[in-house]
Amino acid sequence: MPTDLLADLTDEQQAAVVHGEGPLLILAGAGSGKTRVITRRVAYLLQQGVRAGSILAITFTNKAAGEMRQRVDAIVPGNKLWICTFHSLGARLLRQYADRLNIDKNFTIYDVDDRNKLVKDALDATGMDNTKFTPDRLGGAISKAKNQLLTPKQFEQQAHDFFSQTAAKVYHGYEKRLRAANAMDFDDLLYLPALAMRYNEELRADLDSRFKFVLVDEYQDTNSAQYEIARRLSLNYPNLCVVGDPDQSIYKWRGSDIKNILDFERDFPAAKVITLTQNYRSTKAILHAASTVIDQNKHRKKKMLVTANPQGDPVTVLNFNSGLEEAEGVVERIKKAVAEKRNHYRDFAIFMRINALTRTLESAFVKHGVPFQIVKGLAFFDRKENKDVLAYLRLLVNPDDTVSFLRVVNEPPRGVGKTSLDRLVSYANRNEISLMNAAGSVAKIPEIKGKASSGVRDFYRIITDLRTQLEHPPHELIAMVLDKSGYRKSLQDSTDEEDADRLANIEELVTAAKQYYDEDNSRTLGDFLEQITLASDVDSWDETADHVSVMTLHAAKGLEFPVVYLLATEQGLLPHERSLAKDEDVEEERRLFFVGMTRAMKELYLCHARLREFRGQAMYQVPSMFLDELPPDVVRQDISQDRNFARGAIDEWRQKAGYGNPNFLPGPAERPRKMEPTGASGDPSEFFVGAVVQHDEYGIGQITDLSGFGALRRVKVRFPAAGEKTFVADKAKMKVVK
Ligand code: ATP
Ligand code: MG
Repeated sequence: MPTDLLADLTDEQQAAVVHGEGPLLILAGAGSGKTRVITRRVAYLLQQGVRAGSILAITFTNKAAGEMRQRVDAIVPGNKLWICTFHSLGARLLRQYADRLNIDKNFTIYDVDDRNKLVKDALDATGMDNTKFTPDRLGGAISKAKNQLLTPKQFEQQAHDFFSQTAAKVYHGYEKRLRAANAMDFDDLLYLPALAMRYNEELRADLDSRFKFVLVDEYQDTNSAQYEIARRLSLNYPNLCVVGDPDQSIYKWRGSDIKNILDFERDFPAAKVITLTQNYRSTKAILHAASTVIDQNKHRKKKMLVTANPQGDPVTVLNFNSGLEEAEGVVERIKKAVAEKRNHYRDFAIFMRINALTRTLESAFVKHGVPFQIVKGLAFFDRKENKDVLAYLRLLVNPDDTVSFLRVVNEPPRGVGKTSLDRLVSYANRNEISLMNAAGSVAKIPEIKGKASSGVRDFYRIITDLRTQLEHPPHELIAMVLDKSGYRKSLQDSTDEEDADRLANIEELVTAAKQYYDEDNSRTLGDFLEQITLASDVDSWDETADHVSVMTLHAAKGLEFPVVYLLATEQGLLPHERSLAKDEDVEEERRLFFVGMTRAMKELYLCHARLREFRGQAMYQVPSMFLDELPPDVVRQDISQDRNFARGAIDEWRQKAGYGNPNFLPGPAERPRKMEPTGASGDPSEFFVGAVVQHDEYGIGQITDLSGFGALRRVKVRFPAAGEKTFVADKAKMKVVK
């Protein structure tokens, strides 16, 4: 019954769910039920008799897609509708419409490492100075160009500086190599479908009528290519429903454009706009704290968010002496809460701005025997041995795959040295054939002799033989690869202890493939490979297990947890130091902080440490400017409960740092920028690298460098807002506060 679907929704939410045809924009704040509404709407459309095949729902991660599928399935079972990310949509479209697009459907998807290899090759081939720019940087520029749907020619036309001109040249060669390898990079999965829909009207119209209803979650983080796809799928059947929250746009660095959501009404003038104003996730205290912070962003439409949830505990700022104590302190608190039966481990999430901070945390978890999962991509598949085996598998599906060929032709060793390989490559290039084909005719290449020649021939045979077995399930194929390639044997024969580990890992790969196949027997080796390549960090997260979840703020998007700890809310880390020079970048960091805060349902802890070891250096840290933006009435400073916490010391430090009130409880940290000028300059002989200083004009900062002597002595200081400044030491109007 349709009414069941609506029973636990507010009027606003219901209106969005039952909206008939025509464009629909749901612009709403964090935790207001956007994802719930879009999921319900899919189920509702099905109930209304819309064919499953004509609905396309797009989520931000594969994991979110899986969840949406489960929810929809629970309401309206057994529907084969497309719920996927933009990237997996692209991959599916390219394979399904391969003939019409004139591509080979067995293409390999290249990750950033693979990409960089081809970029390097293309760069070398230009004959330009290849030491100026790294392949990664050039690859990044190409990626950006593709996300803006610029072809190599178009990119070249607008390349006016030396770097862009280099990138443009490389882009040409890179594309050629990519096509020759029958490979797609991540960006191609959006770029090619978007261009196809732009220039192939017949195909576009077919797809538009195939997917009559298109729904997109997290629309605020779409880039130009994604936007083009969503829009062009919705011209004849403009039933595009997008939901998003501009305050949660956090992927600008990957090309997302907040304009896509802000301009929706311009692109679809007939759009119905629904705003959801009630938050169901968080307590009043958390919501108020988060709203107050995000309100500091100047470039934003003001938005109301209220909740009927209880007031809840104040948001707590936890101060620690060091990063080490922070890790210990947080883990101990969690352990205590579980011991006192207040929570399960799975209620907790720990977020941080950058992955590098997890190491300290990991040791604390291990030491205290607290179960945890660090949500950090599929490190398992990044191990050398697994990448080798995957390269074999890719070659089976796509023998033109250059990168994979070069990776495993001599793995395990077959006597194919670098010189022979270079000869093989130039033979292939001369004859415009793939490396695999060249390997097939190695007998015709006189420069490759003896052991190298037979090695190449053996490799060719192994791959060709295995290719006749492609109809086997993925795990059986992997087992065959391990045997036939000699890979397993070479590990078994090795006396190196690590090889025993490697062996265990590749056996684990077989198990992973088996599990994948057992879930659905129609899955092929190609599907298995694609799923691994397209997985994002959060896809590896197991939310059902009873452990503490640790992840970056970016990965936390869309999720919710009863208790959230945000680590290292310190100037330079959050906001990240790279962002400090530009207001708009600081605003993006503030959105990231906001995303983190709004994941919390009941309790929110914002932690910072005074001393943090980071990039091999111990640094005095200044609390994040965002902490100063918290509203005093819902925030508590808590310095008393932490073990080893030298309260006297920190109070002294605070006093020196100008925080004024030695008790400091309750109340927010005062913003360093607001501090009174000291009037006099301090004693320059006290300056040392790492010292926290207070400058008359720029406030609190940290000395990053000292040079010269006497009157020439210079001091470089990094300020949270003003960035890095250099002063003559004798004249610097600042003094050391710690
Ligand atoms: P985000 O901006 O973080 O993506 P969202 O707007 O997508 O959040 P949801 O994740 O859909 O919000 O919902 C937040 C929480 O509120 C979920 O636990 C959801 O089940 C619950 N919720 C949403 N709507 C209602 C409602 N009408 N009644 C009760 N609970 C609701
Ligand atoms: Mg959501």
